[in-house]
Amino acid sequence: MHDFQFKNNRLYCENTDLERIADAVGTPVFVYSQKTLLDHFRNLKTAFREINPLICYSMKANSNLTICRLLLEAGAGLDIVSGGELFRAGKIKAKADKIVYASVGKTEQEIEAGIKAKILFFNAESIPELELINKIAGRLGRRQKVAVRVNPDVEARTHRYITTAKSENKFGIDIKTTRAIFLGLGRNLKNIELCGIHIHIGSQIIYAQPFVRALKKTVALIEDLNAHGAAIRYLNIGGGLGIIYHREKPQTAGQYAKAVIPLIRNKNLKLILEPGRFVAGNAGVLLTQVLYVKDTPAKRFVIVDAAMNDLIRPSFYEAYHEVVSVRREARVQVKKCDIVGPVCESGDFLAKDRRLPAGIRQKDILAVMSAGAYGFSMSSNYNSRPRAAEVLVCGNRFYLIRKRETYDDLIRNETLIKK
Ligand SMILES: *Cc1c(COP(=O)(O)O)cnc(C)c1O
Repeated sequence: MHDFQFKNNRLYCENTDLERIADAVGTPVFVYSQKTLLDHFRNLKTAFREINPLICYSMKANSNLTICRLLLEAGAGLDIVSGGELFRAGKIKAKADKIVYASVGKTEQEIEAGIKAKILFFNAESIPELELINKIAGRLGRRQKVAVRVNPDVEARTHRYITTAKSENKFGIDIKTTRAIFLGLGRNLKNIELCGIHIHIGSQIIYAQPFVRALKKTVALIEDLNAHGAAIRYLNIGGGLGIIYHREKPQTAGQYAKAVIPLIRNKNLKLILEPGRFVAGNAGVLLTQVLYVKDTPAKRFVIVDAAMNDLIRPSFYEAYHEVVSVRREARVQVKKCDIVGPVCESGDFLAKDRRLPAGIRQKDILAVMSAGAYGFSMSSNYNSRPRAAEVLVCGNRFYLIRKRETYDDLIRNETLIKK
């Protein structure tokens, strides 16, 4: 569920008319509902309350400071994937002992920063990384907690670009090597404490079954390792929960919890969850203005002022985002069209073969739905397009939480060399 609904044929976010925001802030603009964001987080928290997990919001889904701080205030920890995200976490005074850090390519500086910040643990993804964490922790005179990210080799049944737990994916460490680490090699790394297992099998997963399969494998591994003298206390099952973009029927938080909890109950493991999309995805839309309606012999193109640089998911993953006019008129004729941006790429589209009102005109405002996760955070300046503004709605008020970039922002770090 989300709080973007039509009232009197106008699209509202909570109690705020979206056209009012477009008028005040301009387009393209990402608009987020505070209520939806918090509802989604609390749904998950409630579903799992029996085992009181640590829920680390996956910052890369939407790393806006205000969004992250709202979730921290609701009790979330953070799942980070870079030194930049650690920096953001510091800016909002996130509790370090609720931060976990995954990435296949952590640099020496990033590892050092994480240790100094006293994060809960790293999710290590290779043997050389474990060795490097050990070395740096030693230099800093510290013993650092580390979880091993296991690649359980399961099919997540999602888009191939967002599966992460097949053996051919770059993520994690295979089960056999993980055994060797916990029972041998890892014991010689005196400055790290191997305390957990991490899995994250992919994203936009709508069925419980891939999670269950991965989890069964992982729990069996943990029990076996602990029986042989390992001390695994944390089980981090990652994120990946799917949401409704179109007609998906994803598992609810309750169904997910029901599938997961029995597998880990009474195992003496602290559960960690890393939801990103589930929390933020349906909590945001991208508002864009129609620039031109272009009828060609082949089809109609509705050309808008948002593009692949603002929302890359359709171009990158062939992702479906619903597109609606923020004004709804009764019984209007519809016409099929492609909704495309101004960027010089044929792959620059937001939606294809969609029915929009036939009378759609220049300056009409469209809402691209479910753009709260992997929207702004994946945006770029391609075609020298300043990145969009971001707005947070709370009831009938709205706040600019990121200014639109300016042309000066585009060239801020460039130097024109002297000739
Ligand atoms: C991206 C990511 C997540 C979040 O994934 P969602 O599909 O957005 O829930 C969680 N954990 C790790 C390690 C990730 O890389």
